[in-house]
Amino acid sequence: MSAAKKARVEEEPSEIMGYIHNVSPIKLSRNNNKYFNAVFQDHEKYSDVVCFVPEYNQILTEMQKAKSPVCLAKVDKSISTRKPGLYDLKVTSATRISIASRQLDFRYEQPEDKVLTITEVKALQAFQKVSVKAKIMSQNDPTLQTIKSGEVIQKQYLTIADATNSIQLCAWDKHIEQIQLAKCYTFCNVSLRNFDNVKSLTTCPDTRIDLVDDIGPVKNVEVESISLIETITVDSVSCVSMTLCGVCNKDVGTYNSNVPTLKCKFCNMRQNTSKLQSSLKAQINCKLSDEPTLHKLSISNAVLKNFTDTNKMQSPDDIEDYLLSKKLKVEMTPSKSQILRIIQAV
Ligand SMILES: [Zn+2]
Repeated sequence: MSAAKKARVEEEPSEIMGYIHNVSPIKLSRNNNKYFNAVFQDHEKYSDVVCFVPEYNQILTEMQKAKSPVCLAKVDKSISTRKPGLYDLKVTSATRISIASRQLDFRYEQPEDKVLTITEVKALQAFQKVSVKAKIMSQNDPTLQTIKSGEVIQKQYLTIADATNSIQLCAWDKHIEQIQLAKCYTFCNVSLRNFDNVKSLTTCPDTRIDLVDDIGPVKNVEVESISLIETITVDSVSCVSMTLCGVCNKDVGTYNSNVPTLKCKFCNMRQNTSKLQSSLKAQINCKLSDEPTLHKLSISNAVLKNFTDTNKMQSPDDIEDYLLSKKLKVEMTPSKSQILRIIQAV
């Protein structure tokens, strides 16, 4: 670091005091780093906190429970992307956390989640957390889905509505039993998704669902479905096998499996060849039940791994033969470009 930069950092107050709120469970970033989020309350505002030291999770959770005044020393500040004019705080291994030595001249106050209307939510960019208050208008039967870790969990699609609009919500696992048809709830920290230009919401591990009084008349417009169920006959198919880099997930191509390590040409990370994962993907031309036209759809590795019959197949030839031999009931994107799930084969 240059001398000038260093001087400027040292001018900043090295300690901040306040209260800690909304400590999230530990999560895994795309690069496999553990982190968690929280909110820090100082005398005039609430700042978003991201912490890359998993050991601090328990300490901060306890401080939150006890409503202790907290002192953070050596926290990094960056301009907030979510809250204009404010800073986000980054807690690293250089940060020291302690109980503030003096009483603070402001009180512990739980930040209010800003509840947005569904119309406001639909106008936002996807991949951020939002809070909405809405009524459950319809619910589909829960289905089972295998997630990345291999665990099988329940998933349920619902339609929720408020006075302004309606939207589809996907509820996972423990959240399903917290929701009942025709009741109203605030959904705090649900994630906004965008699939084929259709916005939808999904619950996350840190989503909170609270029952509230009836919210009155709602606008139950027909929601754009985020998927279609169709029966297809495969006309022709091409399946390929790839070897994926464990870091950036790109196809590393062919390599000598007798060599113990390999440097990925995309992300430059060297890794053990024994740990490289192979992945399949298929492209099909198919006819939907009553239509004569051919549609071109892709099937990802996750979809193939998720379906019992194709789960164990390693060879692209076997997959191709299998797909040609069956009539498939599938879930696909509304644009008919991707298969999201193979439901049944006959
Ligand atoms: Zn790579």
